[in-house]
Amino acid sequence: MDHFLYRDGALFAEDVPVAEIAAAVGTPFYVYSTATLLRHFRLFDEALQGTDHLVCYAMKAASNQAILKTLAEAGAGMDVVSEGEYRRARAAGVPGDKIVFSGVGKTADEIRTALTGGIRQFNVESEPEMEVINAVALDLGLRAPITVRVNPDVDAKTHAKIATGKSENKFGIPIARAREVYAHAASLPGLEVIGIDVHIGSQLTELEPFRLAYQKVAELTETLRADGHDIRRLDLGGGLGIPYTRSNEAPPLPVEYGQLIKDTLGHLGCEIEIEPGRLIAGNAGLMVSKVIYVKNGEGRDFLILDGAMNDLIRPAMYDAHHDIIPVIEATPGVEPQPYDIVGPVCESGDTFAKQRLMPPLGAGDLVAFRSAGAYGAVMSSEYNSRPLIPEVLVHGDQFAVIRARPTFDEMINRDTIPEWLA
Ligand SMILES: *Cc1c(COP(=O)(O)O)cnc(C)c1O
Repeated sequence: MDHFLYRDGALFAEDVPVAEIAAAVGTPFYVYSTATLLRHFRLFDEALQGTDHLVCYAMKAASNQAILKTLAEAGAGMDVVSEGEYRRARAAGVPGDKIVFSGVGKTADEIRTALTGGIRQFNVESEPEMEVINAVALDLGLRAPITVRVNPDVDAKTHAKIATGKSENKFGIPIARAREVYAHAASLPGLEVIGIDVHIGSQLTELEPFRLAYQKVAELTETLRADGHDIRRLDLGGGLGIPYTRSNEAPPLPVEYGQLIKDTLGHLGCEIEIEPGRLIAGNAGLMVSKVIYVKNGEGRDFLILDGAMNDLIRPAMYDAHHDIIPVIEATPGVEPQPYDIVGPVCESGDTFAKQRLMPPLGAGDLVAFRSAGAYGAVMSSEYNSRPLIPEVLVHGDQFAVIRARPTFDEMINRDTIPEWLA
């Protein structure tokens, strides 16, 4: 459920007409709904009621500070994967002890920044990384709290680019080697081993892969405890999928996911951490774009939009489907027609949808890409020298630009000309 609904034929973001935002900020732009963000966060939080837990929003999904602050004020922690994300979370007011540091290749500088500024834990991805965290911690006279990310060799049954829990993926350490690696960790005086971490992939639409992974984590917890490790926190990653189409997909609900966690791990008495990203932000955001031209090709009509693959890369990168809806609803009874919906970038990959049934549209009409809140704005670029598009946050009947569109001069003047060319 989200808060982007039609009222009298016009699409609203909560209580604000989307067309009004378009008139104020220009197109294309991203718009997020505060109520939807909070609703999704609370679904997870409530799903883990009765268990000691922290929901750490995986901020790589959508990392604008206004979004972080909205979630943090509701009680969310953050899962970060880079120093930039760590600093951004801190800038948004998130305390260090609610920030978890994930990511495959943390550098010594990143580790130092997080240890100095305060960190809930590092999710360690390899033994070399473990050694570096140990060294930096000793240098600072600190002990770094860590979990080790184990790779349970489970097929997440998702798109190959976002599956992370199979043995051929670059993530974590093989679960079969866990005892050895934990023994190594326990021997390093700069580390404090506190738990286990697992994250098997993104956009999972079934619970079964989670069940298999969490059962392995439960077994491992008992084994490691028997080896003398004080395993008291389990970080279970993110990955629960969202419906990208209204009709045929129905991924499991957070409450079912929470129940699965309780069923598989509840008996261990550990503190539970989860790191959802997509499910919190995905359906809380739209990308709104304008039709520039309707081009009648041979046997097909193209809707050429002012938004492009640099603004929303998911269709080009993951063959992702986004529902695309008119901002002004079609008059009832009007026959929909198929369009290829494309952006203006000079690549055939700049195609959002092929032969998509839409009401007849003309130049100047607005369309909204649904489910664009996660892995949308954060993955945008200025390819083709198209300035980054703005982000807007709606709260009831108010809206605010939370990242402004750079002017052409701002974009161009980021380049510097070396002296020998001046
Ligand atoms: C990407 C990622 C997440 C979030 O995944 P979603 O599918 O957005 O929920 C959580 N944890 C880690 C370690 C990740 O890399």
